[in-house]
Parts: sequence; C-alpha cells; structure tokens
Amino acid sequence: MKYEKLPREYWEKHDYLLFVYDVLGDMLRKADKLKLSDFEIEFDTEEIVRDFEKAEDMFDWLDRNNHHGISLKMFKNHTFFSLLKDFCFFIYESLSCASRGKVTVAYSLLRKPIRDNLLYLEWLLADPEEFYQTFLYGAVEDCDVANTKKFTWNRKKKIVQAACDKSYMGDSLNSDNIVFNFRFDGKSDLGLQRIWNQSMHLVTTHSDHYKTEDGNLNFIFADEEIWLNFWNYYYTVLPQIMAYVLEICEALFIDTVDITDIELLFNRLLRFEKYAKLHPHIETMSEVEGKLFEVIEMLDKDSINLRMKCENCGKEITIDNKVANEMISSWFVACPNCQLEHNICKYFIDLGVAKMN
Ligand SMILES: [Zn+2]
Repeated sequence: MKYEKLPREYWEKHDYLLFVYDVLGDMLRKADKLKLSDFEIEFDTEEIVRDFEKAEDMFDWLDRNNHHGISLKMFKNHTFFSLLKDFCFFIYESLSCASRGKVTVAYSLLRKPIRDNLLYLEWLLADPEEFYQTFLYGAVEDCDVANTKKFTWNRKKKIVQAACDKSYMGDSLNSDNIVFNFRFDGKSDLGLQRIWNQSMHLVTTHSDHYKTEDGNLNFIFADEEIWLNFWNYYYTVLPQIMAYVLEICEALFIDTVDITDIELLFNRLLRFEKYAKLHPHIETMSEVEGKLFEVIEMLDKDSINLRMKCENCGKEITIDNKVANEMISSWFVACPNCQLEHNICKYFIDLGVAKMN
C-alpha cells in the first residue's frame, strides 16, 4: 500500500497494523454473522420460561436457577465482542491519524484501548469468573482498572501474566514485560505513559518523568526532528502491542467458535510470517519462516488441501504455496475463477479442510 504523508520506512509496519486491525474486525463480523453472543437455553416448563422473561437481570436469574455455566459463557462472549468493538473504533482512528501525520492525536487515541480495553480483555481471559462476579455483583469501583488502589501494579502484572499463559504467543511477545511496561511504566523512557500525558495536556508538572520544560508547551513548538522521533516511536511500539493484542483476542475468540487444529495453526503461522517480515533480525521469528509452506506441503502429501471461499464469486480458492505466498506479502489474493481480489485479512475458521481425489 502507498501512503501519501507517511514516510516510506513505515509503510510495511502500517500495512501490518492494518492487517491486525482487519483480523480483529473480522472476529466482530463473524460474531454478528454467526450470532456468537446468542445462546439457546431449554427450560423444562412454560412456568420457568415466564419466570425467566419477567427477570430484571438475566444473568442474576440464571445464577439463581442453576444455570451459572451458561450465564458465564454468555457474559464472556458478549463482553469480549463489546470491548473489542470499542477497541477497534479507537485503534482505527489512531492508525488513520498516524498515517496522516497527526501524531499527538494518534497517541491520545491509543490511551483508552491500550490501557483500559486491553486490560479488561486480559482480565476476561485470565479470570472470567472473577470478572463476572465483580462486574455483576461488586461495586463499580472494583471494576475500575484505572483505579490504582484497586488495580495495583502487582495485580495488573498478575492479570497480564495469567492472560499470557492462556494465549498462544502472548508470553513471548511480552517477554521481559515489554508490552506491560509500554503501557503502565510511567517512569520508563520507553513507556507510553509519558507521551500520553504530554499529548493530552499542554503543560505537565505533576511528575518529573514528563515535566514540561520551562517556557515550553508540550508538542506545540516541536521541531521536525522531534516529530519524526515520535512518529518513529509509534511504529516501534505499536506493531509489538498489536501482535500481542491478537494473541489475547485469539484466545478469547476461539472459545466462541468451532475451529479445527489445522485452521488454528494456519491462522497462527500466517500472522507470524507477517510479523517476522517486520523483524528479520529476531532469531525466534526467523524460525517461523517457511513453516506455513511446510504445513501446506505436509497436508498435500496426505491429500488434504485448504480452501477459502472467494468473497466475490463464492467459488473456492485452493491455498497452495503460490496463494500462501500472496497471503503473506499482501492483503489480497487474485481469485483464479473471477480474477477479482479476495481480501485475506481474516480470522479463518472455515478452510473447508477436505480430502482431494
Ligand atoms: Zn472469485
């Protein structure tokens, strides 16, 4: 993709960020299309149905009538998709501002989704039962992740660690707590906290770590070099954070859908191939290279092929090495049937794993 205002060196990273955004957006589209927040409950008698319909709080009624399991699952799915939708609204606007050079606005728009929404998502993944009980039956203060007395540094760290442990690669992407520190360490030069405070306020005096210099206003008189540094920093931290977000969201999402092990592996390898392209110098990432092709060849030997339905003509596109290569390097593949471009920024749950003749 070409960007008018964005320096060439960030294009690939911006493409990657839009890919992650689209995969997250696809989870939301699937939630709507497949009604992933809807549940069917069978009640024994008409009387119970009427009693349920009269209930003021559905979750409370279900809890009191021995349906806690269903209630928790409904709450978890509904809360996940709602938090994710709000997360995506902010991230999209932030990316849009970053690509157009509105750097302070781009940073400001990251604060809520990265500090708050993401922590709620992590909490939901780490301990859905605690989240549920606190949210439905606790005081509102107990749900406020911005309240540092309730959500202390250590508690946040525990939540993040537990969420990482339940995700596929969350722990590796947060190695040495790098993603955690980006978000919460106000003292670190690498933390976003400092930039968030400076981008939200013209003068900041309450912390030595991001105090406005005498005779200055935050960001207002910044010269070209300072702008470029902040722009550069945005594209340094955000790909790491968004790769991490995808891990957390995948763990929550796959709990709501039917997915085969092969599809799970395919999604993971595809996103890591894309991520690895941004970080050719990281050794663990170079190990991922070529893995997707190996899997496709391995399946092919067993006469199994992966297919996706073209969004334009509805015919199936077989994912061979050539198509996989296109998927890694672009957002689209050309459909061999209708020749139109088929968007591949998706979370694949229907690769129609089928035996070939
Ligand atoms: Zn087609």
